Amino acid sequence: MNEAQNFLFENHGIRGGIVRLRETWLQTIAQHHYSETVRQLLGETVAATVLLGASLKDQPKISIQMQGNGALSLLVVQCTGDLRVRGMAQAQHDLPGENLLGSGRLSVNVDTGRENGFFQGIVPLAGPRITDCLESYFEKSEQLATKLYLFSDDETASGLVLQMLPGAEDHEAFNTACMLANTLTAAEIRAATASELLRKVFSGFDVRLFAAKPVLHDCRCTPEHLARIARMLGKEELESLVIERGNVELTCEFCNRHFRYSENQVGAILRGEAPSAKLH
Ligand SMILES: [Zn+2]
Repeated sequence: MNEAQNFLFENHGIRGGIVRLRETWLQTIAQHHYSETVRQLLGETVAATVLLGASLKDQPKISIQMQGNGALSLLVVQCTGDLRVRGMAQAQHDLPGENLLGSGRLSVNVDTGRENGFFQGIVPLAGPRITDCLESYFEKSEQLATKLYLFSDDETASGLVLQMLPGAEDHEAFNTACMLANTLTAAEIRAATASELLRKVFSGFDVRLFAAKPVLHDCRCTPEHLARIARMLGKEELESLVIERGNVELTCEFCNRHFRYSENQVGAILRGEAPSAKLH
């Protein structure tokens, strides 16, 4: 578990990816109390983001973000080129699950870190499920037929993607592969090794499986990074917080760690320095 693996259907112009996460997923949700529906959507989005990140050659940073007017106001998952992932969701727990997304937008950001290497695709939320939204994104932004199969519960987040390669025309093979993948269950995708699973699900296809890549949870938040965010609050706001509470406390919304800056440290932040904060 905690790895992603790409594969190819030889002779059909179809690529695929599989991801299975356990510890990485448990660490993502460890400091949060998400409702079951929010947790499921977050897990599916984590799996989808890793599948997308693992499929790209340049190893860009990827983020998928959803903003809607339903119970879920914001969901963000970020994944680095070496597959370190973090994610968070903001939701009002008292609204029913079917209103989770409502209407809003999904954005996919791809950043290679090079000049002109940033790409953002935005699509309206196409349905109540992340698979609907992302399949619509691939169709509109990339013009690539794509099917996603995502699973998430309180222990694992996993998924499988099938995608026609640019220029490929074997729609019949793609449709057959999608029909076969439709039978995949959450229990199946967790239980077997990738090669056993692909052989079982896609019997009749010649599947070439590439090396597995480890996927880690890593929030990457530091007191210095949070200090930069604190500076964005502005001098007036920071100073009034110090007068009111004696310090400024910020929480990383991804990992829920608290960073507390004293009056002196706030002064340093305002001078453009990045002091280390006390961690709580
Ligand atoms: Zn963090």
